[in-house]
Amino acid sequence: MRAAVTETDFILPSARVAALTALVVCSTQPERRTVVSPLSGRPLAQIPQSTKADVAGAVGAARSAARQWRELSPRRRAAIVLSFHDRLLAGRDELLDLIQLETGKTRSDAFEEVAEVANVARYYARTAAALLEPRHRRGVLPVIGHATQTRLPRGVVGVVTPWNYPFALSLGAAIAALLAGNVVLLRPDPRTALCVLWGVQQLVTAGLPAGVLQVVVGAGDTIGAAVVRGVDFISFTGSTRTGRAVAAVAAERMVGCSLELGGKNALYVRADAVLPLAVDIARRSVFTAAGQLCSHTERLILHDDIADEFLRLFLTTVAELRLGVGLEYGYDMGSLFGPDQLQRVASQVEDARRRGARVLAGGRTRPEIGPWVYEPTVLTDVSAAMELRDAETFGPVVSVYRVPDDNAAVRLVNDSDYGLHATIVSGDRAAARALAPQLRTGTVSINESYAASWGAVGATMGARGDSGNGYRHGPEGLLTYTVVQSIAEQRAGRLGARGADGQRRFADWFSRALSAARRGGLH
Ligand code: NAD
Repeated sequence: MRAAVTETDFILPSARVAALTALVVCSTQPERRTVVSPLSGRPLAQIPQSTKADVAGAVGAARSAARQWRELSPRRRAAIVLSFHDRLLAGRDELLDLIQLETGKTRSDAFEEVAEVANVARYYARTAAALLEPRHRRGVLPVIGHATQTRLPRGVVGVVTPWNYPFALSLGAAIAALLAGNVVLLRPDPRTALCVLWGVQQLVTAGLPAGVLQVVVGAGDTIGAAVVRGVDFISFTGSTRTGRAVAAVAAERMVGCSLELGGKNALYVRADAVLPLAVDIARRSVFTAAGQLCSHTERLILHDDIADEFLRLFLTTVAELRLGVGLEYGYDMGSLFGPDQLQRVASQVEDARRRGARVLAGGRTRPEIGPWVYEPTVLTDVSAAMELRDAETFGPVVSVYRVPDDNAAVRLVNDSDYGLHATIVSGDRAAARALAPQLRTGTVSINESYAASWGAVGATMGARGDSGNGYRHGPEGLLTYTVVQSIAEQRAGRLGARGADGQRRFADWFSRALSAARRGGLH
C-alpha cells in the first residue's frame, strides 16, 4: 500500500480497502459511510456498517466457534499469535500508513501502537499457558480432601474501543482475550476500523480459525450498545461518561466488564531533577499523539526551586516542536482527530484564557499545516473556575503549577477524580519510589514518560477513581478474561453427621482438627 499512498492526497488503493472491509460482519448490500482522514480533511474510504441483526448473528457465530478454540491447547493458540507477531513487524509500514491516515498522528506515534501490540502478543503467547494452569489447593482437611482452582474463558468477549489508539487498544485486548480461550467480537470506532481490520487479517492469515475473532462496525449508541448487550464480558476503553453507561448495562445483565477510561494525569518535577531530562520527558508526556492519549500529561507540577529554569527550557523545546501531517518520520506532533476534538480543545483553552489563565505558548489552530492541527499549548495561572483545571482536555495542552515541597505535590497529583497515571522526575530514585505509593493512580512512571509503564508489559496497568476498573498487561490483563471454577474433591470421611450424638462427635472431632491445623501452621 505504501507506494500507492500519495503524500499530497492520501488516497488508499480501493482493492486494498475492499479486501480489508470484506472482514466486517455485514449484509451483502450494507450501508457505507465515508471516513475522512485527519491528515487532509478529505474522504479516505467507504466503510460498510453492520446492523443490530449482524451483531446478533456474529454473537451466534462466535458461540459456534467457541468450543473448537477453547479446546485448542494454549500452546497451539500461542503459535498463531507468535506468527501474527512476526507478520505485524514485517508488514508494519503498510499498517503505519493506515494508522496515520485514520488518526492523523505522526509516524513515530503510530509506531507506538505497533510496538504495544507486538509486546502484548509476545508476552501473552509466552505466559498464557502458565497463567491458565490449574492451581492445586488443599481440601477441607489435608489428605482426605483436595481442590483444584481452574481458569475458564468467559465465552464471547466484546471489545469496544475508541479512535485514539485504535490498533493498540483493539488488538491488545483481543489478543489477551483470545489467548485466555475466549472468542471475541470486536467493535472499533467506525472512523478507525481499517487499521484494526489489517490486524484481524494478519491474525486470520496466521491461522486464527473462522468465527473466533469477528469485527462489527457502526455507531456507538447502536452497534457498540448492541455488542455490550449481547456478549458474556465487555472490555471497554473510552470516556468515563460512556464507561458509566456500559457499566450500568453490565450490572443489569450481571456480566463482568473491564473499563479503561479517562485521565487528568500529572507529572511532578522534583527539586533535584536533571532538568534537560525532565524537559524531554515532559515534552513526550504532554504532546505524544497531540495529547490524545489516555495516560499523557495534562498537569505539570514543578518544585519552586527549579520552576523558572525548567519553564525556560521547556518553552524553548515547545517552540522548536515540528508540527506536520506527513507520512514520513520526523514530525514531533501531528493533528487532532477531527473538528469535534479541535472544538473541545480550543474551547477549553478559550474558557481558561477568558477566566484569567496566561498562555505561555501556543493556544492557536494551525490550518495551514492541517485542517485540525492545534499548537502545543502551555498555560499557567489556571484556577478551579476553569473547565480544564479538572476536566480531561485530551489535546496538546498542559497547565503549570508550582509547589513548595513533595507533600504539596502529592496533594495536587491526587486532587483529581481521575486516577490513571502519574510521572515523577527526580535525581533521587529512592525518594521518587517512596512517593509513588502516595499517589492515587493505577500506574506511576519514574524518570520516563508514560512509555515506561506502558512498555513494562509484565506489570499490570490498573486504574483508580473515574479512570475505571480495568486491567491491561501483566497477569491480570489476561486473567480478567477468565472465570474461576474450583473443583473440590473428598477422598475419605464425611463432612457431617446425623443425630444429636453424631453431630456432637463430629463437632468435637472437627474442632480438634481445626486446632491441629492451627498448631501445624496450616493456612
Ligand atoms: P467515547 O466514550 O466517546 O467512545 C468510546 C467508544 O465507545 C467509541 O468507539 C464509541 O463509539 C463507543 N460508544 C459510544 N457510546 C456507546 C454505548 N452506549 N455503548 C457502547 N459503546 C459506545 O470516548 P472517545 O472520545 O471515543 O475516546 C476518548 C476517551 O477514551 C478519552 O476519555 C480517553 O481518556 C479514553 N481512553 C482511555 C484509555 C485507557 O486505557 N484508560 C485508552 C484510550 C482512551
